[in-house]
Amino acid sequence: MIIKNIHSAVEALKKGELVGVPTETVYGLAADALNAAAVAKIYELKQRPLDHPLIVHAADLDTAKELVTTFPDSALTLAQKFWPGPLTLVLPKKSVVPDITTGGLNSVAIRVPEHPVTLKLIRDTGFPLAAPSANPFGTISPTTAEHVEQSFGKKGLIIIDGGPCRVGVESTIISFLGKEPCILRLGGLSTEEIEATLGPIAVVGKSAKSIAPGMLPQHYAPRTPLVLLNETDSLPNLNPMGLLTLSSPAGCERFQAIQELSVTGNLQEAATRLYGAMRILDEMDLKLIVAYRFPDRGLGRAINDRLERASQNSSRLA
Ligand code: AMP
Ligand code: MG
Repeated sequence: MIIKNIHSAVEALKKGELVGVPTETVYGLAADALNAAAVAKIYELKQRPLDHPLIVHAADLDTAKELVTTFPDSALTLAQKFWPGPLTLVLPKKSVVPDITTGGLNSVAIRVPEHPVTLKLIRDTGFPLAAPSANPFGTISPTTAEHVEQSFGKKGLIIIDGGPCRVGVESTIISFLGKEPCILRLGGLSTEEIEATLGPIAVVGKSAKSIAPGMLPQHYAPRTPLVLLNETDSLPNLNPMGLLTLSSPAGCERFQAIQELSVTGNLQEAATRLYGAMRILDEMDLKLIVAYRFPDRGLGRAINDRLERASQNSSRLA
């Protein structure tokens, strides 16, 4: 059920129930992060493996600090500059954060989201919210309340409508557990912006499964097979095909449907529209979705990361 007023959502969360919440990245499936029984319901509804830790959404820096044993200076600098915003920090956790919230790890991933409705919700409930994306595990993330309703409306979930997500891809995750901070997941805050503040920072590759559990090679996937190509690559001989691209290159007649994410080539606009466009193409009974690789800068890097994971389902093509 989609609602606009947060009062019943506050009551539901206090009772240990789940609520669909808007954030600037994607819609979240939220529960009291400090209540193990409530958090267990997130894993159950999403069918998410229990060792995939959740991100905890705090009201502000001060309440975030209450959840961790140390907050290094470099993490503080980033939090002061980019919170509220699409940046998640991984820090050593205090025992007040239940193990189920962190997938059994001694660390916790925290951010302050930048959506007025959800910030008010967190303040009114008085506890931080664990909130992964509000979609079944492995599928396309939701960027509108209607997307959440399509997945979980029949299960009676309360969903707060906060409009379409401004950023449209998940947060950037940085770990502060090692000697030097490193990026565990590319996301809504660009590497360039982080480096302008911290200096050069390593981006951990797909091999770092043990450091970043849940960073599966296959994720964010439509049901339709998707391949990630360069514009100069030759096209597979399949029909009908759809195209997901930044702006339409010449020779697009081969495609039955085209989703052009930004005619002006704006990568931020493209990120905002990415998941919605994937959903539209996925509903068209296409044999294949072709995605043309995005420029490898700014939010284009996070978009390519998501498309690479989405393309892991194309093995079904064979
Ligand atoms: P999401 O699926 O968008 O909710 O993002 C959660 C992701 O954050 C997980 O799949 C992990 O990759 C990462 N994450 C959360 N907590 C931790 C942690 N304590 N240590 C390392 N990565 C984490
Ligand atoms: Mg997710």
